[in-house]
Amino acid sequence: MARYTGPVCRLCRREGMKLYLKGDKCYSDKCPVTRRNYAPGQHGQGRKKVTEYGLQLREKQKVRRFYGINESQMVKYFDMADKMKGITGENLLKLLELRLDNVVYRMGFASSRAEARQLVTHGHFLLNGEKVNIASVITNVGDVIQVKEKSRSSEKIKSIVENHNGTTVPWVNVDLEQLKGTIVAEPTREDVDIPVEEHLIVELYSK
Ligand code: SF4
Repeated sequence: MARYTGPVCRLCRREGMKLYLKGDKCYSDKCPVTRRNYAPGQHGQGRKKVTEYGLQLREKQKVRRFYGINESQMVKYFDMADKMKGITGENLLKLLELRLDNVVYRMGFASSRAEARQLVTHGHFLLNGEKVNIASVITNVGDVIQVKEKSRSSEKIKSIVENHNGTTVPWVNVDLEQLKGTIVAEPTREDVDIPVEEHLIVELYSK
């Protein structure tokens, strides 16, 4: 399934909540969810009745959009989560948090996951000293992510460093001098900062 390339704010309005897909705009008065908090489209303000399946679907879509992944990736992560020890829904969120693009975002090296994905794909980072350009790599505790020496002079990276607001989660440590971050612990359920009922996603995929 192809990646969604339409207006991303529409996705937040469809889910009825901020999914923080556009960096700084998400924290400003310009956020459309703040101004028009109803679903987009002609019937956006009239959609009320939601079935059980509809609820499960919305939770799954919300998570997909939050992390910017397509359906086949989501199914793959669910299968991995299902085979892991522990609670499947929490395992699923943990795997998504540990995707390299999300880790780069969590370390504050990008203002959104989409920007993080682009920076990784364009080869601006090293993972444990090795070149990496695959945003979907699942990282591990102890992994070190660093901005490549050659990329430090890029205007984009300079601007990110200037505007760095610290990390967004306690499971990563960032050294801004060295432009590197280390994963110091596994992400926990509390670190996922959108309200999501992951058990509904498990129910949906377990049918
Ligand atoms: Fe757009 Fe960000 Fe607001 Fe979502 S949270 S509607 S992406 S500005």
